[in-house]
Amino acid sequence: ITPPALSVFEALESEVRSYCRGWPAVFDRAQGSHMYDEDGHTYLDFFAGAGSLNYGHNNPVLKRALIDYIERDGVTHGLDMSTTAKRAFLESFQNNVLRPRDLPYKVMFPGPTGTNAVEAALKLARKVKGRESIVSFTNAFHGMSLGSLAVTGNAFKRAGAGIPLVHGTPMPFDNYFDGTVPDFLWFERLLEDQGSGLNQPAAVIVETVQGEGGINVARPEWLRALAELCERQDMLLIVDDIQMGCGRTGAFFSFEEAGITPDIVTVSKSISGYGLPMSLTLFKPELDIWEPGEHNGTFRGNNPAFVTAAATLDTYWADGQMEKQTLARGEQVEQALRAICEEQSGTHFRGRGLVWGLEFEDKPRASAVCKRAFELGLLLETSGPRARSSSCCPR
Ligand code: PLP
Repeated sequence: ITPPALSVFEALESEVRSYCRGWPAVFDRAQGSHMYDEDGHTYLDFFAGAGSLNYGHNNPVLKRALIDYIERDGVTHGLDMSTTAKRAFLESFQNNVLRPRDLPYKVMFPGPTGTNAVEAALKLARKVKGRESIVSFTNAFHGMSLGSLAVTGNAFKRAGAGIPLVHGTPMPFDNYFDGTVPDFLWFERLLEDQGSGLNQPAAVIVETVQGEGGINVARPEWLRALAELCERQDMLLIVDDIQMGCGRTGAFFSFEEAGITPDIVTVSKSISGYGLPMSLTLFKPELDIWEPGEHNGTFRGNNPAFVTAAATLDTYWADGQMEKQTLARGEQVEQALRAICEEQSGTHFRGRGLVWGLEFEDKPRASAVCKRAFELGLLLETSGPRARSSSCCPR
């Protein structure tokens, strides 16, 4: 029986809705690490808007910047016009992110969400190389629109498209082999078989830590070997930093630890800091080949999001403290998980920075843990090859 508070969702919202099934409460307010439902229950939010709230809910510094902007009638549309808000963001991004890391990227605003950034990255790589295939990895997640879904390694989500998804070549992610086979031997053999020309992939897209795919952490040396392979085989390297970027693993970009400089980087989720939709596709200047207007649309620059994004970078990324704090907090979580695993033999955990997962042998057990956590006021989520998102209360 549906409680009255949920009946309008049941009646009107599509069956495709998912997170609400795992968390059957009507949320009303949120502050810092906590969310509050309309019945007055408090939840500690470990999910943080699926990584879109690295600075907490309604962060007061960002809230003040947003209120000031709205009160002075700042521009609110999303066209790619030059605005003072966009200029402040670009200057802050250059000063706090690109310049200190000596990263050469041009910045493109591909649309509001992560999948828009991935689509732009795939489209650009194909146009630059004049080739169509993209290599991606088992258990990868890059988004739900057709192009990004074609490089997503999740059969359940791919089935949502209703048609075969083409032009992606899947490869095993790090740690697939037991160490007896050199990591990229299979990959190199495949490329040799394909020969050069149109069948040669245009690019490789990778997450440094697979979030949706089950918190699978790539080793820095594996990422370095992948970057070298891309260079040798004339493929562009795209790092999808939508979930692990913006400090989630410590450094601003999650690939910094490996010391690589991808050709293209996608960023979204916590870039606005306040949960406002915003995404970036970053690329090396020599890849900036599109003619004006060849890739545009209505929401290519969310001005209120620029305001909170600039405030976020100025407040948290000007002095290197953010990375230290994240790593210190991450160690606390790691210790807590280690203690759980020592107590319950056969349980494993893995992660980096402030993204961690506990491994269970099957989905029902993982779902049961999330369900119980919710009842106790803690928001956790399942992920991994067999997870469907919010699977703790499947219909
Ligand atoms: N890429 C990665 C690594 C993600 O984790 C996600 C979302 O979880 C996406 C792309 C898609 O982003 P969005 O859901 O904003 O379209």
